[in-house]
Amino acid sequence: MKFENSLAFARKLDKQDLLKSFRQQFYLPKVNGKTAIYLTGNSLGLQPKVAKASINQELNDWATLGVEGHFHAKRPWLYYHKYSKKVLARLVGAKPDEVVSMNQLTINLHLMMISFYRPTKTRYKILTEAGAFSSDQYAFESQLRFHNINPEDGLIELKPRPGEFTLRTEDIVQAIEDHKEELALVLFGAVQYYSGQFFNTKEITLAGHQAGAYVGFDLAHAIGNVPLKLHDEGVDFAVWCSYKYLNSGPGGIAGAFVHEKHATDFSLPRLAGWWGHDEEARFQMKKGFIPMPGVDGWQLSNYPIISGAAHLASLDLFEKAGIKNLRRKSLQLTGFMEYLLKSIPAADELFAIITPSEVNARGCQLSLLMKKDGKKVFKQITKAGVIADWREPDVIRVAPVPMYNSFEDVFQFVEIFKKALGRLKRA
Ligand SMILES: *Cc1c(COP(=O)(O)O)cnc(C)c1O
Repeated sequence: MKFENSLAFARKLDKQDLLKSFRQQFYLPKVNGKTAIYLTGNSLGLQPKVAKASINQELNDWATLGVEGHFHAKRPWLYYHKYSKKVLARLVGAKPDEVVSMNQLTINLHLMMISFYRPTKTRYKILTEAGAFSSDQYAFESQLRFHNINPEDGLIELKPRPGEFTLRTEDIVQAIEDHKEELALVLFGAVQYYSGQFFNTKEITLAGHQAGAYVGFDLAHAIGNVPLKLHDEGVDFAVWCSYKYLNSGPGGIAGAFVHEKHATDFSLPRLAGWWGHDEEARFQMKKGFIPMPGVDGWQLSNYPIISGAAHLASLDLFEKAGIKNLRRKSLQLTGFMEYLLKSIPAADELFAIITPSEVNARGCQLSLLMKKDGKKVFKQITKAGVIADWREPDVIRVAPVPMYNSFEDVFQFVEIFKKALGRLKRA
């Protein structure tokens, strides 16, 4: 698409936008009484207006039914983990039996690593991207220590080439090949939280499996953002949270994927709880854990219904909007932002977009590496009504989300950003 640098053009795109009505389905935060330009859906997605009614349904059923709500609530609580399967499966490219919503992301990462990180004397290393999200780093470090492996030795963290900000697929594949005798697990953030790079999950999975390792992905920044094909690509497992692009509320319930090929492999070690036990026999409360087939057998606890109610309300909007439509709009929205940013005079001297320009290697987020006084610029745009995200030491992350951001949001943001940069030059 050919873009034009004008407010009129942004408004024209909004008018043509098939998904424009979804913006009205969300509460938009205000700054100084004015609707904010919200570009942090990658950190905390906005509240869908329907979330309240969905939560109220459960509160009412709890009030009127008490414990009987497990069977007689409008959505019986006993089966709550099943209601999100269809949409989640679509979002990650899986079969419904391969996905389940449960726990929190880091907990799920640990549960998956208990099963799929099985170090031996010679094959014990984990390969990941350098600068992974802190919680993932702590999970890797503690899992290694749990197995009495020194993290300095057991963790391989791939860095981009000197002068580059993102990893080349060929370098990842080469590194996997180089370490193929000692790799137990390859685990990447499918979309890197800092750079916004969308890794080539297909090639990584292929290379990891050829090396004889398990392959997993953290989808925190990928689910609801980029198209995924976990089943077809043969990924062993994946985990995600729901409060970023999935708009399911702060601390909302997370999820996990385990590939069908492991569905009935009950020899995989795992940590167990009653919600993963054979559903037919769960309430017999008998000794002897019998896991349910598929990812459901990794569940531990009974379902957090209130959080799940918000999750369902939001997932319903994804179903209605359609993930293909969302991706189509996302490419335009982020492409428009990139175009406008690149047309800022002397842009190269002031900042660099470190997110790949190749559209298949990114989602909606752009990471702007500020070359000077980044923090000052960030403060100014914040004062002017932009809610963006600052990452130490020098990156501003902005994520125009197709579900509720408009082309005008993007245009206004770049105008404000440009003004803040202009002030720097004069100072
Ligand atoms: C947001 C995020 C987390 C957060 O973990 P929680 O367990 O949900 O607190 C972890 N890893 C990545 C890559 C993230 O982006």
